[in-house]
Amino acid sequence: MKKRIYFLLLILVCLGAALFPSNTYQTLTVDGMPVEFVFRSLQPGEVILAVLKGEPPVKAVRLQFLGKKYILSASRPGEKPFALIGVDLDVKPQSYVIRITAEKEDGTKEDARQEFLMDPKNFSQKRFWIKESLIAPPPQELERIRREQELLQDIYNCITPEWLGTGSFIPPLDQEAFPNFGQRRIYNKRPPSVHAGVDIGAPWGTPIRAANSGKVVLASSLYFSGKTVIIEHGQGVFSIYGHMSKFLVKRGDVIKKGALIGKVGSTGRSTGPHLHWALKIYESRVDPFALVGMPLD
Ligand SMILES: [Zn+2]
Repeated sequence: MKKRIYFLLLILVCLGAALFPSNTYQTLTVDGMPVEFVFRSLQPGEVILAVLKGEPPVKAVRLQFLGKKYILSASRPGEKPFALIGVDLDVKPQSYVIRITAEKEDGTKEDARQEFLMDPKNFSQKRFWIKESLIAPPPQELERIRREQELLQDIYNCITPEWLGTGSFIPPLDQEAFPNFGQRRIYNKRPPSVHAGVDIGAPWGTPIRAANSGKVVLASSLYFSGKTVIIEHGQGVFSIYGHMSKFLVKRGDVIKKGALIGKVGSTGRSTGPHLHWALKIYESRVDPFALVGMPLD
C-alpha cells in the first residue's frame, strides 16, 4: 500500500515538473550590483525576468535586448526593481547580447553585457482545407479590419511605464490550454499564418478572470477575435482575451487580478466556444504561460 502511494506521489511530481518546468537563474553584475535573470528556457516565445538584487546606489538601470529598451522599475517603494523581456516567437535561434546600463546620481554610467544563446523551437504545424470564401474576408469588411488594426496599434503604442500588476500572473480559466501557441497554420495553399496565443476550450458562458491587475484599454467587438478585452499591466505588458460571448468590464476600468472580465463564447472567427489568450511585451508575442511561471510575488 505504502509503495503504491510513493509511486503515485512520484508520478505527480514528474507530472508537475513536466507541466511547470523549473526556471533557470543567471546573475550578471553591473557596477557591483547583481542583476538576476529568470527564464523557463531561452527560446522564441519565452519571457525573461530581470530583477535588480541588493540596494541600488544608482538612479536607474536600463536594459537593451533584441532592439528594445527596458527600464528596471519597482511596483511599490521598497520592492526590487524589475523588467519583463519578451522574446518574440519569430526570433531566430542565435546568440544575442543583453546590455545593462547603470546610471548613477552624478550622471556617470556603467555598462555590462552578456550573451544569451536562443535555442530553436519547433512550433507545431497544422493544415486546414476550408472554403476559400471563409479565409478571405468579404470586401465590405476590409475597411473595418484596417480601422481595427490601426486601433490596436494605437493601444500597443500607448504604454504606462509603471508596473500595474499584483504579483505573479494567473491563468484566466481552470481548463487546460491546447498546446497551440506559435502554431503555423496553413489554410489551403496560402503562406502559413502564426497563432500568436493559446486556445483554452471551456463551456459557453464560463467566466474569464483577469490574469493580473491593470487597466482595461479595450472592450470591443473586433472582426477576427470577436468580443475582445485587452488589459494593460504596465511596463509594456498587455494581455488579450478573444471570442468572448459577454463583456463584464468596459474600457477605462481599473481591475484587480482575478476580477471577472467576460464570458467564454465563440464570437469573431471561431468555430466553437473557447478563449483565445495572448500576451504581448513591447509588441513581442510570447506564450502567456511563460509569464504565469514567473516569480513576481
Ligand atoms: Zn486562438
